[in-house]
This record gives sequence, structure tokens and C-alpha cells, in this order.
Amino acid sequence: MSNQRDYYEVLGVDRSAGDADVKKAYRKLAMKNHPDRNPDDPSAEARFKEASEAYSVLSDAAKRQTYDRYGHAGLQGAAGGGGPGFNSSEEIFSHFGDLFGDLFGGGGRGGGRQSRRGADLTVRIMVGFLDAVHGCEEEIEVSRAEACDPCSGSGVEPGHEPEQCTTCGGAGEVIQSQMFLRIRTVCPACQGRGQVVRHPCTGCSGRGTQAVSNTLTVKVPAGIEGGQVLRLSGKGNSGAEGAPAGDLYVEVQTEAHEFFERRGADVFCEVPVSYAQACLGAEITVPTVHGDSLLSIPNGTPSGKVFQINNEGAPRLNGRGRGSLFIQMLVAVPTSLTLVEKELLRKLAEIQDEKVVERGFLREFWDRLTG
Ligand SMILES: [Zn+2]
Ligand SMILES: [Zn+2]
Repeated sequence: MSNQRDYYEVLGVDRSAGDADVKKAYRKLAMKNHPDRNPDDPSAEARFKEASEAYSVLSDAAKRQTYDRYGHAGLQGAAGGGGPGFNSSEEIFSHFGDLFGDLFGGGGRGGGRQSRRGADLTVRIMVGFLDAVHGCEEEIEVSRAEACDPCSGSGVEPGHEPEQCTTCGGAGEVIQSQMFLRIRTVCPACQGRGQVVRHPCTGCSGRGTQAVSNTLTVKVPAGIEGGQVLRLSGKGNSGAEGAPAGDLYVEVQTEAHEFFERRGADVFCEVPVSYAQACLGAEITVPTVHGDSLLSIPNGTPSGKVFQINNEGAPRLNGRGRGSLFIQMLVAVPTSLTLVEKELLRKLAEIQDEKVVERGFLREFWDRLTG
């Protein structure tokens, strides 16, 4: 204790420096000399402790006053005994845990045990309307992080081993004292791992993963709808240090179809019928997502009438059968007629005592109406 450096000199601040400047100076030194960031420099930890000790005194108004008046000697006899020196980084963290919280806990190596699992990935694929109904297989290209080859995902340079964390002594957690409470928290130096990598793998900079591009085959189940998401378990990024991989989420979008529309497992379409068919009834061929089908329409079918054919919709994803096909009949009006057709229609109108206006009068009427 005899050749101890002056606390102001250690932190590099004036004797008149305010609390904010003291804190700022300490944070700067702590960041620079943190043992975790200086694996190859054992003197960094000594400097880290020295700065922490200086800060513990200068950040405490009463202690600082005593120190200003009596120097190091004044603190020797202080209550608690043994002076403010720190024996280990653990003690430092237990004193200034909240000061370090955002320095080392949150960022850096991704804080927290859970986050060591590889990240989930999301890709989007587009499938045809009928492919979504019937199911298909799609090849996709995914760039993902895979376990690094040279270090087998450990992040440690081959020939070296991770070392026990000096902050928590390998326990992975530290005790923080606040007033009378002692709170157990995840060790901020090793994020609960209990180990610190002093020789990170040069191939992956210690991340344990490398970027690769994979071609994967995705099985799209029959009946999937646009916007639904498939989960490929374990096909996301590899976890660091052998932790489990994340998942790959495949969001499926479906193309629109010329005739069909879907709502859930039900399929909708419109089918034109002629005036005669609608009046007299007919057996017509209608398209379904499973091929053509025959539909009997009764005589007197009004335009707009909807027929439901059970079990001709898309398969339900839960495997319980299929939805329905809803077919709307639209009476089609031909735009060009043969002379014979015209003659027959005039006759029909005559029988039904209808006044037929030809030669553009109706056209003119509609044009005026629709502007
Ligand atoms: Zn630790
Ligand atoms: Zn590596």
C-alpha cells in the first residue's frame, strides 16, 4: 500500500472533477482494461482493479472527502476494514454491476445463456395456386451460419482450450450486494458460461460459425394458404459453441389463379352459361381444382346463382377432408350473333311481347348513363 498511485492520477481527472467526469473516466478505463477484452495482457486486469478501486473512493462523497484530507492512509482505518481494495473482478462487478450492465452484459458476445442458440431465419417462397392446393416440393437457397470447420463450432483456436472465467471462478454467476440484499446474477464477464476464450479461432474470429449457402428442399403441404409459415426445425443458423441451431421459417405466398379464388379450404369460381341453358337446364362441364367435373343446372337458373359442390375444394391442412367448390353461374350475353340467332331472338321477344330497340338506341342510352 505504500507505493499506491494517487486515485485522481489513476483515473486521469482533476481534483476538482465532478461526479459525471469521474464516472466517465472510469467507464473509459474499465472498457479499455477489462480482462475479457485483453486476454493476452495480464497487466490489464491489474489496471482494471486499480481503476475500480479509485472509482469506488472518488464516486463516494464521504470516502472522497476523507481521501482528499488524509490520502490513502485515511481510508485504511475506515469502517469495514482492509481499505477499498478489490481482490477479484467478481467484487468489482458486485459493486458496480449496474454501471457495467450496458457495457459488458448487453452487447459484446450476445449476453445470456439462451441467445447462444443459433438465430432463426426467415425466407419467403412463391408457389403456384394449384401447387398450394395439391402440395409441392420447392428448392430454396438459404444463406446461413454453419459451425466453423477448423474449430468445430467451439470458437476456440485449435490447440487451445477455453479458460475458467476469473470473474466468477467458473460458477457462471456472481453475487451483487445492494444495501442488505445479495442478488445472484449471471456473470457479466462470461455471460454465465463459466469459461472465457482467450484464444479465439482465427478462422471465424471466435464466433464459432461461418457463412454458407445451402440448397434445401421444402415440402409444401397440400392445402397451404398464402401467408402461412412452415417451420424447418434446426435449419436456421448454427448455434455458437455447439449450441443448438435456430429454426428456418418459410413464409409461403401463393400466386393468383385465372379462374379460381380461395378462402381457406373453399374454392370459388364463376362459370358462364347461355340464356338457353339457364332457362331450360343443362348438364355443363365445370372446372375444379381437381380436374373437370359435370354439374347439372336445373331449368330456370337465375344469373348469379351459386352452386356448392362438397369435397371439391382444397384439402384441409389438418387432414380432415376437403373444402367445397362454389360455382357462380353467370348468364353470358353474346357480343356477336349470326343472322339466324338474331331472327330467333326477335321471334322470342315477339312471343314475350317485349319491345326490342335495335340500332344503337340502347348503346346510346348506356353511354349517357355511364358518362
Ligand atoms: Zn464468469
Ligand atoms: Zn472457428
